[in-house]
Amino acid sequence: MNITGTTRFVTLLGHPVAHSLSPLIHNTAFQAQGLDFVYTASPVAADRVEAAVLGLKALGAAGANVTIPHKQAVLPLMDTLSDRAQAIGAVNTIVCQQADGTVRLHGDNTDPLGFLDPLRGRTDLRAAEMLIWGAGGAARAVVYGLLTEFHPARLTLVARTPAKAKVLAADFAHLDANSALRVRAWNEATTAVRGSRLLVNTTPLGMHGRFEQATPWESSADFTPSHTVYDLVYTPHPTRLLREAAARGSAIIGGLPMLVGQAAASYQQWTGQAMPTDVVFAALADLGFTA
Ligand code: NAP
Repeated sequence: MNITGTTRFVTLLGHPVAHSLSPLIHNTAFQAQGLDFVYTASPVAADRVEAAVLGLKALGAAGANVTIPHKQAVLPLMDTLSDRAQAIGAVNTIVCQQADGTVRLHGDNTDPLGFLDPLRGRTDLRAAEMLIWGAGGAARAVVYGLLTEFHPARLTLVARTPAKAKVLAADFAHLDANSALRVRAWNEATTAVRGSRLLVNTTPLGMHGRFEQATPWESSADFTPSHTVYDLVYTPHPTRLLREAAARGSAIIGGLPMLVGQAAASYQQWTGQAMPTDVVFAALADLGFTA
């Protein structure tokens, strides 16, 4: 990588950021396309978020990504917001837009685009029954993506804290033309699991580390070839959930295409170029991350 006096920079604002794959993803793509950009990761404490965001303007950054725990905190600092970011209530991408000698910060959320990438062309999901395990930050992007793309007949949120899921459902009521959203506790969800065409895990259950042996759904006999089971967790791949679903004949999707897809949608906005995702997937595979 050749960093010069004209190199534009993009940075990741979060805490912690040291283990993020975003620098690898974006720098691989910049290099593959010969773009004069560099991507760094910036650990930002909660009381420095505003200073960091305003610093993007002062330093002439091309933009930034925002990750946990600052995705909500940066929202009021944006000059403009995409409909997606507004509806989800969180920003993962900042674009520094220059016009008339001033810089304006545009906030977007590309997570729903990345989430939908592996589901493109799935006309069978239109108006289908669907279910999501978990109701945290990622679930908000998933709910937005599913409601706007597929207009499901039923979208069940399975949550261990139903009160939080009810707030989420209320926040998206304006996009829920079919009144599809409903909340179920885990022990009330069997019928919905069996009857849904798409099942999405947005909890950390199954993730490398202390949850690796866990699954959001213990009764794998409920999975059939009619199901598509989608796990946002990308390490390990496949997770226990996906292994058990595949063994029952379900179609499975892991979280890596979403990670790359959301990155590609941000990259496009900073550079005007389509990310060469085949090169990025190859670089990730070299590190053991497979899709
Ligand atoms: P989050 O905001 O903390 O939400 C996590 C959700 O999972 C909450 O609803 C939480 O319930 C629930 N949960 C946590 N532990 C649980 C358990 N032991 N049993 C049942 N439910 C549990 O986290 P997030 O940002 O949404 O991320 C969730 C997962 O998605 C992580 O594994 C993350 O790596 C993955 N993710 C992947 C991508 C990708 O690009 N592939 C993007 C975003 C996130 P409570 O509210 O009751 O705590």
